[in-house]
Amino acid sequence: MSVTGLCTVCGREGVEYTCDRCGSLVCDRHYEPSLGFCVECAGEVGGGGRLGEDNQPEDDDTYRV
Ligand SMILES: [Zn+2]
Ligand SMILES: [Zn+2]
Repeated sequence: MSVTGLCTVCGREGVEYTCDRCGSLVCDRHYEPSLGFCVECAGEVGGGGRLGEDNQPEDDDTYRV
């Protein structure tokens, strides 16, 4: 066999995808096809766009009741 790498997330053999963001090799279970990222990057980027909008110190709108 010529296995070039293991899944960065679970360490499984049979890696088929490469993350477009960090370049990690991941298996199909840990790859987000819609983003082209591994699940870790997909989580950081926040597929829904909700993550990251929590910390906006210079936004007074957040203080509205
Ligand atoms: Zn995996
Ligand atoms: Zn990644």
